Amino acid sequence: MEDVDLRFMREAIEWAKLCKPTKPSIPLVGAILATGDNVLGRGHRGSGILGDDDHAEWVALQKVQDRSKLSGATIDRRRRRMQETRW
Ligand SMILES: [Zn+2]
Repeated sequence: MEDVDLRFMREAIEWAKLCKPTKPSIPLVGAILATGDNVLGRGHRGSGILGDDDHAEWVALQKVQDRSKLSGATIDRRRRRMQETRW
């Protein structure tokens, strides 16, 4: 694994912490979409209320400005349940 992968995984964890789920069944998820060390989009899971229930991967995809760069992109995605205290 390369340093950049580790960096994006850690960043995905930080983004997951931004989730504010309204119920325990909604996991905390963060996603970083990148090609090499170039980030195309970042996102976290919504709260679960109507209009704010999108998945992190979907949110990250929506942030992509130049979709021609999506070919060959990878996504680092991390999740945990609210009750867990460790990653
Ligand atoms: Zn998802």
